[in-house]
Amino acid sequence: MKVRPPGRVVRVLPDVPAIDKTFDYLVPDGAGDEIRVGTMVRIQLGARRVGGWVVADGVDPPDGVVPRPVAKVRGRGPSPPVIDLCRWAAWRWAGRTATFVGTASPERAVVALPARPAPALPPAVVHASSALAGLAEDAVAGGLAVVRLPPAADPSGVVAEADARGPSLVLCPSVSRAESVAGRLREAGRPVALLPGEWAAAAAGGATVVGTRAAAFAPVPAFEDGSGGAVVVLDAHDEGHASGAAPTWSAVGVAVERARRAGVPCAVVSPCPTLEHLALGRLVVSSRAEERSGWAVLDVLDRRADDPRTGLFAPRLVPLLRAGGRVVLVLNRKGRARLLACVSCRELQRCQRCGAAVSEADGGLRCGRCATTRPLVCQHCGATTMKALRVGVSRVREELEALAGRPVGEVTGDTAEVPDTPVLVGTEAVLHRVADADAVCFLDFDQELLGPRYRAAEQALALLARAARLVGPRRRGGRVVVQTRLPRHPVVVAALHGDPARLAAAEAPTRAALRFPPVAALALISGPAAATWVAGLRGVEVLGPDAGRWLVRGPDYAALCDALAGHPRPPGRLRVEVDPLRV
Ligand SMILES: [Zn+2]
Ligand SMILES: [Zn+2]
Repeated sequence: MKVRPPGRVVRVLPDVPAIDKTFDYLVPDGAGDEIRVGTMVRIQLGARRVGGWVVADGVDPPDGVVPRPVAKVRGRGPSPPVIDLCRWAAWRWAGRTATFVGTASPERAVVALPARPAPALPPAVVHASSALAGLAEDAVAGGLAVVRLPPAADPSGVVAEADARGPSLVLCPSVSRAESVAGRLREAGRPVALLPGEWAAAAAGGATVVGTRAAAFAPVPAFEDGSGGAVVVLDAHDEGHASGAAPTWSAVGVAVERARRAGVPCAVVSPCPTLEHLALGRLVVSSRAEERSGWAVLDVLDRRADDPRTGLFAPRLVPLLRAGGRVVLVLNRKGRARLLACVSCRELQRCQRCGAAVSEADGGLRCGRCATTRPLVCQHCGATTMKALRVGVSRVREELEALAGRPVGEVTGDTAEVPDTPVLVGTEAVLHRVADADAVCFLDFDQELLGPRYRAAEQALALLARAARLVGPRRRGGRVVVQTRLPRHPVVVAALHGDPARLAAAEAPTRAALRFPPVAALALISGPAAATWVAGLRGVEVLGPDAGRWLVRGPDYAALCDALAGHPRPPGRLRVEVDPLRV
């Protein structure tokens, strides 16, 4: 016989890492108005008192279960549509729903919401040029638009156009960028909620919400009552939008899904959209002349004539170092390809299938990206003697100082304060630490071009875009310099012409041939429990193991994510990375 619970019962998702299921609780007397779907509560779970979220209201508990009352109401949490979005994200990136609902929740308890700002007619949007006005309008005209804006172009017109249509959501790859976007809107007299601090103002409604990755789940009531403007993602190619830790979710993917569910336009803005972005929707570009002028002048220092055993610096680099002004030199040291050059013809040795760098393995050559092997023979001249291009990084700063005849400072990811020197050398972190430069030089660009990841070429172009932003538009006269043995690589050609389509055209056939995204969906599985777990996956292809990691490939995300979600996880550590950054 079924026992009726004495009152209203809600279903609660506990915020406990090891538990991905829900439990039923009674709504206590007097708390009826405060508790709804999304409310953050505390509950007694076994012997422990834990936090959680109400995820369903007015439920019938399973037979024989006598629910305990909710212990405490903590405050407001995400709305029902955002909780649904969290469930979708948990499926899409093989994570726990609670991880995403936590991301969607305020950092501190929100008991009451501030007053909603009085609705004001948006001011007429002023654009730098009529061409940019047309582009901004087109970007938020409907559906999904991939907006290719050159590095030096200001995307604030697209943001203003979205905001003029209604409260919008703007996602930025860094906190400083989000602050500057929010500041611009405030200066124009527009209501803004900057996440994560202004969660309550966002939940009150009437404001455009600006933030970084986590803001993809921010409250935007206008998306639920039909008055929303648009979703805008700035610098969509930037890795700041993706979570490095599992679940390896991307704010771009969440933004696209959120806009689709809310029925609002979505503008995915980038100077160098990836093939995965381009597969999402229609492409909006400025005129060829306008786009080209927004990329810096690129100087290509072809090092093929130099002996592979000579140093890191091309002779032509010296005048640049001595020219005055701020010069930034980039030399990535970690996790990059080890390059081999033929001693006879000096050509770099590359994979015949995918073009990545090869290294010596078991008496032959092996590709770090697609694992193709071949005998130890130069693909250009047939010689069999290779020389590793080792970069002597330890004395780079001193050598540069001697060449430049002026002080050189060093910047890495760990540097607390950027040295106040006219010349800086560092890892790519240096590009995020200085606001502008007269020249940016990549000392070993082939490391970027031939890296073992399938996205290596796109990431290399993203570095050039970042550098181009530091030196400003073509007319300002700044320069981006690359030292390379591959002067005709599509990345170099694309940046030279300020035309990222040239790289996309070259990359697409390779991706299709190798069945990498966007023609397939990938997940990387590792951890002690991985071997037994991947053996039971159905409807997907399992490759590996390679260095203790398995690559799981599905024809699309529906197939891949259904396979991952439908297969119970064994005890033991298992790391599942959908859209892995390191493959
Ligand atoms: Zn050769
Ligand atoms: Zn390969």
